[in-house]
Amino acid sequence: FQAEDGIRDAQESRGLGDVYKRQSMKKLNDFFEEKEIIKACKNPMQHEVKGDVAFKNVNFSYDKKIPTLRDINLQAKAGEKVALVGLTGAGKSTIANLVLRFYDADSGTIMVDNINVQQYDISKLRSCMAMVLQHVFIFKGTVRDNITLGDNDITEEQLIAAAKKIGVHDFIMKFANGYDTELSTEGGNISQGEQQLISFTRALVYNPRILLLDEATASIDTATEELIERGIQKIMEDRTSIVIAHRLSTIINSDRIYVINRGIVAEQGTHQELMKQKGLYFELYTTQFEKV
Ligand code: ADP
Repeated sequence: FQAEDGIRDAQESRGLGDVYKRQSMKKLNDFFEEKEIIKACKNPMQHEVKGDVAFKNVNFSYDKKIPTLRDINLQAKAGEKVALVGLTGAGKSTIANLVLRFYDADSGTIMVDNINVQQYDISKLRSCMAMVLQHVFIFKGTVRDNITLGDNDITEEQLIAAAKKIGVHDFIMKFANGYDTELSTEGGNISQGEQQLISFTRALVYNPRILLLDEATASIDTATEELIERGIQKIMEDRTSIVIAHRLSTIINSDRIYVINRGIVAEQGTHQELMKQKGLYFELYTTQFEKV
C-alpha cells in the first residue's frame, strides 16, 4: 500500500495529530498506557456518545509543579459551538488535550455526557472525537488516502459527500486524476487553502460527535479565506465543537466564548456580553483577532 508510510507518519508525526483515527488510536493508547500517563479503567462505560462536554473545577499541571490550568469550569452541550480565546500559552490547547485524555486532570472532573472521561474505554472515547490542528499534515499519497487515512470502511459516497459539504469536491475534480491525484509530501502541489479543506474533509468523513479545532490564523487571499470560513462552519454542524478560535467570524458564531488567561477562565459569555464588559475579551478583540 503506497501511502502506508505517509499514513503512519501522519498518525505519528502529528504528536497530537491532525485527525485521530481508529488505527492510530491503538498506537497512541499503547504509548500512553506504557508511559502510565493515564490509567486504564477496569469497567469502561459503553454507550453511544451524544457529545456533552463539561469541566468541573479542573486543575492540571504538566510538571506537577507549575499549574497550567486552575479551577477550570466550562461546558459545551451536545451540538454547541464553544470558542476558547486567549493569548498564546494561556492553556487553550491543554484543555483540548484533557478532553482527548492525553493527560488526566490532577483534580476536578472532565465529563462527556455527564460521565467522567476516566470511566470510558479510551479508544471508545477518542473514537467519537476528531481534532483538526493548525498545522495541516499532507503526505505523499492520493487525495483519497489523505482524506480516509487508509480506512477502507469509508465508502466512496461518504467521501464525496464530505468533500462536497466542505466545498472541496470541485477543486478535487479539477485535479488531473480527481481523488486519485497523487499529492507530494507536505502538499507542495496544492494550495494551502486546499490543504486545509482536505484536512477538514478528513475530520468530517469520520463524523465525530466532538470536534476539537485549532483554527489556523494565517489568512491567504480573500476567496480562499471565504472558502475556509465556510468549511469551518460546515465541519462544526451537527456536533459539539470546541474551537481554539482566532477568527472573529468563528468567535461570533459560537454559542459561548471562554476567555482563557494564565490557566484560568477569566471571562465567559457571548461576543456582545463580553464586548460590553470592556475587559480582556475587548482587549483581545482590538489587538488579536483576525477580523474575518
Ligand atoms: P495555548 O494553547 O493557550 O497557547 P497551551 O495549552 O499550549 O496554551 O500551553 C499552556 C502552558 O503549558 C504554556 O506555558 C506551555 O508552555 C505549557 N505546555 C504546553 N504543552 C506542554 C507540555 N507538553 N509539557 C509541558 N508544558 C507544556
